[in-house]
Amino acid sequence: MTLSKDASDATAAVHAGVYVDEQYHSVTTPIYTTSTFYFNGSGDPPPYDYTRCGNPTRQALQENINALEGGDQAFAVCSGVTAIHTVLLLLKSGDHVICGREIYGGSHRLFERVFSGLGIQFSFVDMFNVEDVAAAVRPETRMIWIETPTNPLLNIVDIQAVVALAQERGILTALDNTFMTPILQRPIEFGVDLVVYSTTKYLNGHSDVMGGAIVTRTADLSRRLDFLIGAIGVGSAPFDAWLVLRGIKTLPHRMKVHEQNAMAIVEFLKEHPMVKRVLYPGLSEHPCHELAKRQQKGFGGMLSCELDLEKLDLQRFFKALKYFKLSVSLGGVESLIQHPWSMSHAAMPKEARLAAGISKAIVRVSAGIEEVKDLIDDLKQALDTASIL
Ligand code: PLP
Repeated sequence: MTLSKDASDATAAVHAGVYVDEQYHSVTTPIYTTSTFYFNGSGDPPPYDYTRCGNPTRQALQENINALEGGDQAFAVCSGVTAIHTVLLLLKSGDHVICGREIYGGSHRLFERVFSGLGIQFSFVDMFNVEDVAAAVRPETRMIWIETPTNPLLNIVDIQAVVALAQERGILTALDNTFMTPILQRPIEFGVDLVVYSTTKYLNGHSDVMGGAIVTRTADLSRRLDFLIGAIGVGSAPFDAWLVLRGIKTLPHRMKVHEQNAMAIVEFLKEHPMVKRVLYPGLSEHPCHELAKRQQKGFGGMLSCELDLEKLDLQRFFKALKYFKLSVSLGGVESLIQHPWSMSHAAMPKEARLAAGISKAIVRVSAGIEEVKDLIDDLKQALDTASIL
């Protein structure tokens, strides 16, 4: 089905890519659980020949994601980390990558402990300061890795400024857009070359699958990634692709509720005596509020706060919560809470965590889509229970 050019996100999310069943006309995409496809004759290949290299269910998801993102092509892979490592495989030994100090702990581990060993060099810089990024550029710099908003402190990188610097010097840009989704931020509109997702999070939205995606800006990058994904065999399995495709249909609506709930939780936490500060770019007093307003279409469902550990017992607080499950991951319909120091960012060396500003008092919340009053009541009773005053 051809979507009209001005179809809104909510319409594209429901219709893009899904109608592939020409035999029975099902309105949902079938799951093609086949590893291989038969030829009518040796010179007469079917549209897909082997699922490692292409599959109609995966293709439906890819078209759907790309309709929201507006890139050249989208590629669905097994997990967010798979998407990140596949993008890194566009590089070769001796190449240099610049990335922010404050990034997802798993990305940091992959860069420092896997790709460094393969001869790719990394500089971790203060990405909020474009002069620091410029100062880190070397003749062999081939990629700038951007994550914005950052995980877990919700700082904002100026995408336009970093892309301008990269384009002047012929350096590729890649951006992990997991926190925002294409509903709230379209990095390709700012000239970013490769957009990366953990679809495990908001795109699927139901915490029941691992998935990742890469969206390209140019046909040349699409050609290289198409080859790579088949060659290394990391394409999304048909059932997983189908789950993500089903999840995306409600993404535009879910994102509105995630954000409304996050905003209400922020307002509650901001006034609480056991909370030292709340980190959420939607707050007008957040140092990156104006930049966030400029490059994002909303502020999303993720927030962090610094608790006053002299006033409350963290373990008792986590235990007392009923609806906020203590869990890594984010972006599902259920609210989650986690402790970056000991959980999502534990893989980062202690010094790197401290340099990034991740202290033991930071707690990260993924606001779900439950009734917000229940969520706030839950936080309130857990903070009361955890009081050590
Ligand atoms: N990017 C971000 C921002 C994440 O938070 C995560 C996981 O938490 C990933 C990438 C990795 O995704 P996955 O767990 O699907 O491999």
